[in-house]
Amino acid sequence: MKPVIALIGRPNVGKSTLFNQFTRSRNALVADMPGLTRDRQYGDAKHENKSFIVIDTGGLGESDEGIDAYMAEQSRSAIQEADIVLFVVDARAGLLGSDQMIADELRRQNKPFFLVVNKIDGLHEEAAAAEFHRLGLSERMFCVAASHSRGLRQLLSDVLEPF
Ligand code: GDP
Ligand code: MG
Repeated sequence: MKPVIALIGRPNVGKSTLFNQFTRSRNALVADMPGLTRDRQYGDAKHENKSFIVIDTGGLGESDEGIDAYMAEQSRSAIQEADIVLFVVDARAGLLGSDQMIADELRRQNKPFFLVVNKIDGLHEEAAAAEFHRLGLSERMFCVAASHSRGLRQLLSDVLEPF
């Protein structure tokens, strides 16, 4: 069985960009408009000799009403389906309350998850990452720039290591 990796996080942190890099496709719509990917999207991907499935989601952590509640439900379903969860945050936006809520939610799930600090391009990596240590996930934190493919090989090597 191929391992399944779910991409979870607030809208606009770069989940669809990561999905596109992993699957090398333009299937996931990337846009500046937050929350554009409303449904879960599945893609086939490969890292070195390991195949895996990646799930893109619309985003957790906005208000729990209407379309946001639907997107939150999609994210929860993706977490259930996944072997590994990548919790994506935005180094430019910094650590928000909704990131903290997602971290708390993920801790309640019995799933291995990793923190992916994205959009590190043009920033001082350690300084940008500093505030995210407050999430208490430092030992499984990766700094990447999805749109520049930076840090993605190391990330995949590490998270796919047990598979
Ligand atoms: P999603 O809502 O989480 O799926 O986020 P998207 O993948 O749609 O990306 C939201 C915005 O962030 C887009 O304008 C992307 O081009 C931009 N973005 C994604 N990754 C990076 C990155 O590594 N660096 C920078 N500077 N921008 C990024
Ligand atoms: Mg998206």
